[in-house]
Amino acid sequence: TSTRVINFGAGPSALPQSVLEKAAEGLLNFESTGIGIGEISHRSKEFSAFLARTESLIRSQLNVPPTHHIIFTQGGGTGQFSAVVYNMLARHRLLHPDLRDDQRTLDYVLTGSWSKKAHEEAIRLGGANVHVAVDARSYSKDGKAFDNIPPHAEYTFSRDPAMIYYCDNETVDGVQFSSDSNAPTFFPFELLKRRANSALLPLVADYSSSFMSRPIPYLAEHAVIFAGAQKNLGPAGLTIVIMRQDCIVDVDVAAKLGAAPVPKMIAYNTLADSKSIYNTPPVIPIYIAGLVLERMAELGGLTYFEDLNKRKAEKVYAAVRAGEEGGIFQSKVQQGSGSWMNVVFNILGEGAEERFLAGAEKEGMKGLKGHRLVGGIRASLYNAITAQDVDKLVAYIDKFIDDEG
Ligand code: PMP
Repeated sequence: TSTRVINFGAGPSALPQSVLEKAAEGLLNFESTGIGIGEISHRSKEFSAFLARTESLIRSQLNVPPTHHIIFTQGGGTGQFSAVVYNMLARHRLLHPDLRDDQRTLDYVLTGSWSKKAHEEAIRLGGANVHVAVDARSYSKDGKAFDNIPPHAEYTFSRDPAMIYYCDNETVDGVQFSSDSNAPTFFPFELLKRRANSALLPLVADYSSSFMSRPIPYLAEHAVIFAGAQKNLGPAGLTIVIMRQDCIVDVDVAAKLGAAPVPKMIAYNTLADSKSIYNTPPVIPIYIAGLVLERMAELGGLTYFEDLNKRKAEKVYAAVRAGEEGGIFQSKVQQGSGSWMNVVFNILGEGAEERFLAGAEKEGMKGLKGHRLVGGIRASLYNAITAQDVDKLVAYIDKFIDDEG
């Protein structure tokens, strides 16, 4: 309706209008049960069927092979920062029971604030050596910003690590691994595969802010892929974890061998064995995510969104470049490392950022203020942002450049 603005927020973020309208009906009466979705038992046959359908919509659109389980849980991306450490160390314990803690390694690829946070949690939890495989700040323009995806030659991976961790899209810093396997900013999957010599890679990826925006390269090679729902998929409160069969280990057996005991609710075997209903799942977020996924499938699935998202990002980056050439903007990321989902830039000049934000708001565009840690402008272009929404933003940027220039 006309009271709604265009929400370029980074998450929670825009959801499709048609989904929200349908969800409003379901809130009162879920699938003609006469019971609202927030009131119905998570073990009812209607909800169980909905949950199974939601899983299969992810499986089919992302092409998740039968080797991988898809589970729904809570605790957000942040919860998984801890969960992956516990579960991957339990797995490593079962593979190599005789190693000491200081002989186990967790490799972290640092490309932004979220991988840095995950890395800090691994250090805090202990139980292994935490190694930085690469720190993108060393390759930045100013020596301290996360503004790039580093070249392959700069990564140093450990021998037989318990985990190799990366974040596909850094929501705060606006850098993302490329989806083009020929680009220098593509993740070095081939290098890792060669080194692993046919052993299963302990590769873990945070896909929180790029999940379902385009296909996931080398998905089948991943041990774990996780994502909070609140960007492309649904409201906050739901976390999706895709885990390869060999990462679902009996954590209690690992604990008997000396691994840290794993809290029941973050043990992957609890979640997988119970098919996501060990306890009460976040029923409403799952419902809305399911509706979003149904709509995605109707529109043409990930191919449709990959194409749309690519075009959206290209348009916004072109406008930012024009502003840069006019000496009004300053891009915050190096060429080739820019995120499709979160475009970040600075506006130069006294009071110019405030003028930009106030003008945008007047035209019905909100959520453009950068993350509190880094400032500047951030335009988040998740799936629910349409081509028309982006055209409106770009027209506004163009006009702003004209007016200020
Ligand atoms: N990882 C990434 C890439 C994120 O963007 C976020 C949240 N913005 C998180 C992790 C943390 O997620 P949550 O708030 O769901 O814990």
